[in-house]
Amino acid sequence: MESYPMNGGDGTFSYNKNSYLQRASTNVSRATIDKVIAEKLDIKQFSPALTTFQIADLGCSIGPNTFLAVQNIIEAVRRKYESQGLSSQLPDFQVLFNDHASNDFNTLFASLPSDRPYYAAGVPGSFHGRLFPKASLHFVHSSYALQWLSKVPKELIDPNSPAFNRGRVHYTSAPREVSDAYTSQYAKDMVKFLHARGEEIASGGIMVLVMPGIANGIPYSCMPSGVMFDLLGFSLMDMAKEGIISEAQVDSFNLPVYAPSPDELTALVESNGCFSIERMDLAAIGSKIDDSFGGHACMLHLRAGMEGIINKHFGSEIIDDLFDRYLGKTNEFSDRLNSSVRQGSQLVAILKRK
Ligand code: SAH
Repeated sequence: MESYPMNGGDGTFSYNKNSYLQRASTNVSRATIDKVIAEKLDIKQFSPALTTFQIADLGCSIGPNTFLAVQNIIEAVRRKYESQGLSSQLPDFQVLFNDHASNDFNTLFASLPSDRPYYAAGVPGSFHGRLFPKASLHFVHSSYALQWLSKVPKELIDPNSPAFNRGRVHYTSAPREVSDAYTSQYAKDMVKFLHARGEEIASGGIMVLVMPGIANGIPYSCMPSGVMFDLLGFSLMDMAKEGIISEAQVDSFNLPVYAPSPDELTALVESNGCFSIERMDLAAIGSKIDDSFGGHACMLHLRAGMEGIINKHFGSEIIDDLFDRYLGKTNEFSDRLNSSVRQGSQLVAILKRK
């Protein structure tokens, strides 16, 4: 099983200190989550009356965003009980924090809010398979984790395949065969994900999935992450041209991340059959990002999430040089970067277990 944990700990390049964009997204989805709980969660459907309301956050990383997200969910569920005159039946809340076993759970546990209104537990393992007992979950949340594929499709590194991804690190700006290989890997992974959640979520339970998404017909190179991946590829190719790394190393490196369109995800959910789609739309995160999010913050964002996987492939000695070059490119391409955050790039899917 491949895994690509975010940078652990709380140092300069840690995810903990550099997950600003993901937090902006958590803020964008907050109102949506409040609304879905108010309008769509039917607490009377859970029978017998719940003593424990189980929430899972899939791909929680090490905080702090996961804490905000689960806090929002719990507050909204409490309000729901109150508005229905059921305050006396308020259940206990249990939050199950999931990520790969290689995630820095120590940092996560050490930074759990001390005044949290829930019992916390960590659940290690891939969300592409079963993680929880049958029909045990009432609310599932996942933010900016489902873009990670379970693996890089093999065709991308086969020089004899039409999907061989020479000189790039992603399907951004790549030929059709390359993006098709990513699309089909994503579909395989989502089939497994939806199957597992279909077993684990109780009837009436809600799943909120937030991930990078893309409108039909928009090239990936217009998306914020598309710009970032292009710049990463350019920086690596510059290093290859100077002989610091080899071109073959760049050719064989691909980021296993994918952004579906709403139609694509809709088709996958419908063919799974366990969930009704309560909402599926794209939002832009631009409005929630303040002006201070410039090249430097963009570099830290990418480094916190991708240093591990780059390290594994190229070795740690290139990292500082690479991200210095990358920073230079973010300045050079700042117009492209700024216009990308205005694109609808955050896909929010709200599903209800039938
Ligand atoms: N939800 C958090 C973290 C996003 S980072 C936030 O919004 O800030 C994405 C996380 O997803 C990483 O910690 C990564 O390890 C995790 N992840 C990726 N693939 C996963 C998988 N198959 N199973 C469980 N976690 C996964």
